[in-house]
Amino acid sequence: MTQALSELFELLRIPSVSADPAHNQDMKKAAGWLEAKLRSIGFNVEVVPTPNHPIVYAEKRLSDIAPTVLFYGHYDVQPPDPLVLWHTPPFEPTLRDGKIYARGSSDDKGQIFAHIAAVESLGDQLPVNVKFVIEGEEEVGFGNLVPWLEGNLARLKADVLVVSDSSMLAPGIPAITYALRGIALLEVRLQGSARDLHSGTYGGGAPNPIHAAATMIAKLKSQDGKIQIPGFYDKVRPLSEQERKLYHKLPFDAAEFAAAIGASAMPGEAGYSLLERIWARPSLDVNGIWGGYQGEGSKTVIPAKAGFKLSMRLVPDQDPEAIYALTKAYLEHILPAGYSLEILPHGVGKPVVTELDSAPMQAASRALEKAWGRKPVFNRMGGSVPIVADFQQLMNIPIVMMGFGLDDDNLHSPNEKFDLINFEKAIESSRNFLLEFAKTLR
Ligand SMILES: [Zn+2]
Repeated sequence: MTQALSELFELLRIPSVSADPAHNQDMKKAAGWLEAKLRSIGFNVEVVPTPNHPIVYAEKRLSDIAPTVLFYGHYDVQPPDPLVLWHTPPFEPTLRDGKIYARGSSDDKGQIFAHIAAVESLGDQLPVNVKFVIEGEEEVGFGNLVPWLEGNLARLKADVLVVSDSSMLAPGIPAITYALRGIALLEVRLQGSARDLHSGTYGGGAPNPIHAAATMIAKLKSQDGKIQIPGFYDKVRPLSEQERKLYHKLPFDAAEFAAAIGASAMPGEAGYSLLERIWARPSLDVNGIWGGYQGEGSKTVIPAKAGFKLSMRLVPDQDPEAIYALTKAYLEHILPAGYSLEILPHGVGKPVVTELDSAPMQAASRALEKAWGRKPVFNRMGGSVPIVADFQQLMNIPIVMMGFGLDDDNLHSPNEKFDLINFEKAIESSRNFLLEFAKTLR
């Protein structure tokens, strides 16, 4: 067993479950383990207390002129339940069939530790300044990291942020995620009469907010999938020809994708492929709709109230606050006469993008190609990763998301694993990246 692997095992043995207060001491222990490890390889380390779990901040400074790489990761893990489904105990890391089985092996201890091991392996050859922010609340979102980032922007200053908390495209096919969608969420509440009414006594003469809701929902998108909110697409950055070509070449089968969710068709915006629609185009979905009687049998009621919930996935350069305002104005505009309308915001998140031809992306591409023997795939993610958006917004630096997990790693499930080869290649990739990135700014 290599030194890096046996050290990863030490870290994996600490049951740092952030959601369970019974593990508060283990959280401290994991933070302390990282502190000692990073100190031993020449970092200045601070374990920052928060109202919940500490943040580990470390920096190794070479010079003022060397470029700086900032790594983000997390040392907390999901609860291991249900324990009976684990083939070997979650906090007794086990190497089996070339895979490291343990809670946190892939998400995210194995991935963040790979970067630590890479820095260590370079020893005196390390060509850049390196900083680590390793939090203990990623799985629970207690929200203590962002205020700390806000208060420490000067010392966090870096030329690139590297995040490894995601997956490769497939075994042996490295991937770099260069864009994430943002989000805007809201709730619409409609009221017609002051109380529920009998449909015999009032039917034909009373407002029905369910119909009003349905009318409004129908006006949100056209038949060909275009979102009808005026100004919605104004700031959407069009897909480049380069991106469209790259997506086209990916081993992605729309029919297989549909079959995997048991759908016979994948409707959406006309003029775009399925992958383009879920990665690079904005979307709008009603997530819930309510009103009236939903129990067994029938009830002759005209409800007083109805409503629905809406989410929109946004792409660069849409501003979620602006989209929220446009949506609100449009909903007010299409509200049928005779109803009162209440709109509640349920949060927003910004989209993220790093230019494909930027220096850090190209350095990452070369680094992965050297380690894996093939060029990485550049992909986007349809979802949002709030902390990455926060980093981009606060620090305004390029972000390289290179994940080393695989889709079958059982994240958040029993028998979480990290392929040993992925751990080893992650170290190699990170090491290559540090060397390549130093060259780009020289
Ligand atoms: Zn994670």
